[in-house]
Amino acid sequence: MSEAMHVIRQVLGEIDFDPQALKARYLAERDRRLREDANDQYLEVKGDFSNYIDDPYTPRIERAPVNDTVEVVIIGGGFGGLLMGGRLREAGFESIRVIEQGGDFGGTWYWNRYPGAMCDVESYCYLPLLEELNYIPKHKYSYAPEILEHSRNIARLYRLYDDALLQTSVTAMNWNEASGYWIIETDRGDKMRARFVAMANGPLSRPKLPGIPGIDRFKGHTFHTSRWDYAYTGGDSTGNLHGLKDKRVGIIGTGATAVQCIPHLGASAKSLHVFQRTPSSIDVRNNRETDPEWAASLEPGWQYRRMENFNILVSGGDQEVDLVSDGWTDIFRNLTAIAAKTASRKIGRRLTGEERDLLMEIADYQKMNAVRARAESIVQDAATAEKLKPWYRQFCKRPCFHDDYLPTFNRPNVHLIDTAGKGVERITEHGVVVDGQEYALDCLIFATGFEVGTGYTRRAGYDIVGRNGRRLSQKWAEGLRTLHGLQTHGFPNCFFLGFTQSAVTVNVPQTLDEQARHVTYILNELRQRGASKVEATEEGEAAWVAEMESKASMGEQFRQECTPGYYNNEGRTGNRNSFFAYSYGGGPLRFFDILRGWRAAGDLPGCEING
Ligand code: NDP
Repeated sequence: MSEAMHVIRQVLGEIDFDPQALKARYLAERDRRLREDANDQYLEVKGDFSNYIDDPYTPRIERAPVNDTVEVVIIGGGFGGLLMGGRLREAGFESIRVIEQGGDFGGTWYWNRYPGAMCDVESYCYLPLLEELNYIPKHKYSYAPEILEHSRNIARLYRLYDDALLQTSVTAMNWNEASGYWIIETDRGDKMRARFVAMANGPLSRPKLPGIPGIDRFKGHTFHTSRWDYAYTGGDSTGNLHGLKDKRVGIIGTGATAVQCIPHLGASAKSLHVFQRTPSSIDVRNNRETDPEWAASLEPGWQYRRMENFNILVSGGDQEVDLVSDGWTDIFRNLTAIAAKTASRKIGRRLTGEERDLLMEIADYQKMNAVRARAESIVQDAATAEKLKPWYRQFCKRPCFHDDYLPTFNRPNVHLIDTAGKGVERITEHGVVVDGQEYALDCLIFATGFEVGTGYTRRAGYDIVGRNGRRLSQKWAEGLRTLHGLQTHGFPNCFFLGFTQSAVTVNVPQTLDEQARHVTYILNELRQRGASKVEATEEGEAAWVAEMESKASMGEQFRQECTPGYYNNEGRTGNRNSFFAYSYGGGPLRFFDILRGWRAAGDLPGCEING
């Protein structure tokens, strides 16, 4: 046994499994899922497939085109747009227009109304602006309708419905240097001038379909989970899908979305076939109603403190108390730098680099062993339980927490069709084929996720044309170039919220809020200086790109060894357009510090302002 392993045993106790055998199994499971076509295996939802993204929730309302001038246009009415609009209103900005594709505010919570949809990060941290709205969510993890309503309430409070253009998609965005305005056109014939534009179009907003042969041949009913067809299934987000009681339903995909809706499909459908390529890791949810006494005890500033506490813990930092204390903080406590610190205390010295890496690896195996044992203890049929066990490290895919998913496979009408990592073979007029066997279906649901790793402007749906006719798609073809992820040289007065070279947090709205505050600060500075134009300089941008690159290798080896998925660009790491190439390797704590430090400097380093 190596010296390092000896130390790890001191810390973790007896290790009753063979780490090398597990590692070999993980790599073998990855290898059989790696595909040459990687991200190209998915279909872009357009042309013959565009009906998959039609809005089933709000009837189209006709309106006359607008042709006017606004100070700030925000593209996207999800959490990013709401936070951006809210923070700008607080700073006294009046001329604000949100342009949103959906029929209302809410973004991902407007679109994702599938039965069982809920947030999986604690709602007291996740729902934005709770103190500003004087609202406490009903549960520790909120259900989707409450989050959608909260989004509408934010829009009402900050008067974001005024001037908003809903059911509207931007089709063109061109910078006019002479006037210093962006010219924005839409699919409703609008043409407006905007001094500033904030892009809040979301990281996972464009549904994707698998390029399975025959996908266009299926004659039954079909839809993507982000456009749930309640007219067909009956019921609502709480389930009771009575329209399915005589239907043979199939669902492709077993990611975070499927995990939430499968229990309801299993409860309502005549039969349910779940087509699985890779199982998710399913841990305990333990949702509960909000305790009114606790809610009454909260002191002003509580939400930010709670978000910070959570963010520090899930970024590997230490905190005296764990306010959220759930599956997320538990994983991070055991699998990150916090675990190394605890171990150091135990053995009375700092761990060496080798010991630290080994500790993380062994603790990860232990965690995943527990996840696999949980599947075995809940799912009665041993062969099915075996297929539901995930064979990869915890953060290779989004960890899931759910108490009803695994028991669903004990229902006699629910059948797990595992594809042994290969995916569905074919789709026919009548159903789905796996390993040569056809499963006849009346309804086929795609829980196949959203585009990640494709070009930014492809996902936005239009190009952005900056100074001298330069297209953003060209500028970012070889990878993003930004200052703090928020601005890019040659595209003045345009800000990018989300994961464009900024930090990915488990609690995504926190990043969006930090960005919204930062952009508000910049616009406020401009206003105070009587300026109307701000742009990242080439040097400012280059410095941030260098900082991004200096941290780019962090986690790269880990992701290479992972089973494919959007976290590792379907196994093609190193791609400059992948999810983690978009995110700052130094982590959110450092990133937020950098933004704060930049604001404190007071002279907008790396930016040029004028006009
Ligand atoms: P994912 O991308 O996570 O999952 C897509 C699923 O489709 C995977 O199981 C994938 O398998 C499967 N799949 C793709 N192609 C095929 C094929 N050819 N044959 C069989 N299966 C196939 O999408 P989700 O919508 O589930 O989740 C996306 C993200 O949205 C999550 O990671 C999370 O960040 C967020 N989310 C958050 C929720 C919350 O509670 N806050 C809830 C739901 C989603 P494979 O794994 O093998 O690629």
